[in-house]
Amino acid sequence: MKEIDLKKQNKILWIVVSCVLIVTIATGLSLFGVFYFSYGTDPVIEDDAQNVILLIGDGMGINHIKTTELYNNGAMLNMRKLSVTGEVMTRSLSAGATDSAASATTYATGYKTYNGRISYLNGKPLPTIAEEAMAAGKKVGIVATKVVTDATPAAFLAHSESRKNTMEIATQIVQSDVDVLFGLNNAELKSLASSIQTDTRDYCVSFDEVNASDADKIFGLFDESIPNIGRNTLASLTETALDRLANDNGFFLMVEGSKIDSYSHDNDVKGMIDELNGFDAAVSRAVAWARKNGNTTVIVLADHETGDLRIPADATADMISNDWFHSSGHTSQNIHYFAYGTGVEQIPALIDNTDVYDVIKQLLF
Ligand SMILES: [Zn+2]
Repeated sequence: MKEIDLKKQNKILWIVVSCVLIVTIATGLSLFGVFYFSYGTDPVIEDDAQNVILLIGDGMGINHIKTTELYNNGAMLNMRKLSVTGEVMTRSLSAGATDSAASATTYATGYKTYNGRISYLNGKPLPTIAEEAMAAGKKVGIVATKVVTDATPAAFLAHSESRKNTMEIATQIVQSDVDVLFGLNNAELKSLASSIQTDTRDYCVSFDEVNASDADKIFGLFDESIPNIGRNTLASLTETALDRLANDNGFFLMVEGSKIDSYSHDNDVKGMIDELNGFDAAVSRAVAWARKNGNTTVIVLADHETGDLRIPADATADMISNDWFHSSGHTSQNIHYFAYGTGVEQIPALIDNTDVYDVIKQLLF
């Protein structure tokens, strides 16, 4: 009887030890996973740039770029002519593909978060590169072709548990010290008009008002859409922003081609191409400005791919069609980055989205 009890006890002990071992190994692996995915490749950038311009083509995968080039009779886009290129892994903490909120949060803060969060994680706001730049006496500009409370611009200036908290986001953007803000208006921002216009900040609702303003800070919030060609384009708003931001302490400017994503969700290939060409014209203007300045870094990338766009073999321009999209949502494909200017040779060829913040931070500080 005693011998059987001992055997039984040994068996129980063996089961307990096994369980502890399994839990320990599993925890170790998941911690390693968190460590690995949270901190990316830890790029070291030794150079300091006076200014950093980050241009985000929302939803812009490599096939969006190639399809646009095909449509443009094979002419290479300006972004593709930049000296350094590579890929960015885009995953957020949520399962499946990232959304713009989580992706912009990662670029703005260096932290991955869950889809829908605006520079916010586990009940806490995450400090953004824009806030850090302002605290250090640098100027900050944000330019987008959709409403400025949308996820990508919001993640640089606001903190919220949900991208849908438009009033909360609008209030924080108005309370922020951002020097230049250009994009579309909405009811929430309009309800704050009396707080936007101050002694040092102009609230402009037309392009003419923007051009006439000589206030220290400016909000240009428009009802009409921002065209891709002609006057008052994203490219000309980018140039206006750059001229306003230039100063001895430097600046950080984020420019978003916001509707590449919307057209891709709709599987509207021509709309996507027009918006991408408008975005690329802004890239060209930013690079020309950086070249003249001599101590500016320009980084062009996307937040994720939208629409699973595929180009058939031997495709020609007249074959381009909405059928090339294979999804109405986001995918987890790596996106491509293109960079010009100070320090860009030190950016690794394959980076995690968390590394984008690390690169900008080391360049600016
Ligand atoms: Zn989207």
